[in-house]
Amino acid sequence: MLFGEIFGKLIDTLVGGPVVKPFPKEPVKVPPKWRGKPIYDDEDCTGCRQCERVCPANAITIEDKKGEFFSYELNYGVCIYCWYCIDACPTKALTGDDHSGLYVSNDRTKDLIKSGVPYVECPVCGTKVLRPSRSIVIKQFGKYDAESLARASVCPKCRREKSAEEIDQAVRDYLSANE
Ligand code: SF4
Ligand code: SF4
Repeated sequence: MLFGEIFGKLIDTLVGGPVVKPFPKEPVKVPPKWRGKPIYDDEDCTGCRQCERVCPANAITIEDKKGEFFSYELNYGVCIYCWYCIDACPTKALTGDDHSGLYVSNDRTKDLIKSGVPYVECPVCGTKVLRPSRSIVIKQFGKYDAESLARASVCPKCRREKSAEEIDQAVRDYLSANE
């Protein structure tokens, strides 16, 4: 490059500001249909582990914590943004964030999604079961409140073995005991 060209670029930069993108101070504009970070919403997660199974980078770890809750961890530091987990998630607990770039921090704690999802009790027999996802409860009962959640939490065994009347009564008793 000739000295004149270099000088010209220097003047352009001094007058017009930096020619490089101001990332990470400002987000980078990404093309339509960009596959950014998978975003996790624990209210919709049932702990089914489909996302963990399909993840080719082992970025997702789900662990049972003594039957009280399960921990969920998604590590953006190793995620390859393939979105297999989003396609596999049956409850839309994982969705795409089309607007963020591939930026990850040097601080590993900032690149982790960490969550703990409690198990819930079957209102009939008291067995701990995976909490039904918010979207499934709304689909079944048209709303997401204590009664709908309790009804959706009836375990498969009680659904098979108890009559509708018995389940109704057990749910009413459970709700009044937990008011
Ligand atoms: S986007 Fe791909 S690599 Fe990242 S967590 Fe999901 S399945 Fe794993
Ligand atoms: S995020 Fe979706 S696929 Fe993963 S455990 Fe939760 S419900 Fe299952």
